[in-house]
Amino acid sequence: MKNKLMALTLFAAVSAVPLLAQAAAAPAEVIEGFTDTPMQPNGKWHVHDPARPQPQVVTPANSFSHAALPPSDAEVLFDGKGLAKWQKAGGGDATWKMSDNYMESAPQGGGIRTRGKWADFQLHVEFATPKPAQGGGQGRGNSGILINQMYEVQVLDSYESKTYADGQAASIYGQSPPLVNACKAPGEWQTYDILFESPRWNAQGELTKKAVITVLHNGVVVQNRYELTGCTDGINNAVPWRTLSKYAAPHPPECFIELQDHSNPVRYRNIWVRSMHLEANQ
Ligand code: MG
Repeated sequence: MKNKLMALTLFAAVSAVPLLAQAAAAPAEVIEGFTDTPMQPNGKWHVHDPARPQPQVVTPANSFSHAALPPSDAEVLFDGKGLAKWQKAGGGDATWKMSDNYMESAPQGGGIRTRGKWADFQLHVEFATPKPAQGGGQGRGNSGILINQMYEVQVLDSYESKTYADGQAASIYGQSPPLVNACKAPGEWQTYDILFESPRWNAQGELTKKAVITVLHNGVVVQNRYELTGCTDGINNAVPWRTLSKYAAPHPPECFIELQDHSNPVRYRNIWVRSMHLEANQ
């Protein structure tokens, strides 16, 4: 019995050699990102750190808010019938391509933003990234929900596609990776349900309340009352790309909502917003 055990042990040891050799020979996965950037406030990761853990993949069901109709107190921002509620970033009518019941970002055409503004709001958005998928990482279905052109909820095709965790789909770009990766496949309609609490400043210009955001992606919680550390890097002059987030000058709580043009054709449909009436209920 002892000899048989030894033989089995030896067999296992010998068998492991080629397996180990194969593992060593396999090329390490390369994930885009940066390590020459500042450390995040948590002191663990660089801004856009490729080593920051990838969120666990969760397969979403058909989201409870898929094709959700607006509640009675919502303002419909897009129902497929026109772009009257939207304008170019520099003013003027929005010119994104319209088709059936959706609109599509016009690469190099610039982002479009709402004419209206809201403080402390609930936002429903549906989007679809290109099918077949084109490009990789940050170049694959990149768009975004930009609040006040300061705070970005990333839109990206992160379905079986990796990038730095703080820049993948449903991240608060440059700050907070999603709790899980709940992406659907390219071309499928996906939902974001966003609860945004605007930041506040006092009369002396001191920040008294950080922006707070909750995001459900395809019905799955991916940001849970995350307190933003400031403006997203790379979308306004206050915080250049790849630098540490910070709050810019005080701004009113009422914010516009922008759909980002990041040179990839991303589709949007069924967008509505409603005030959460936080101050009225306090
Ligand atoms: Mg983006």
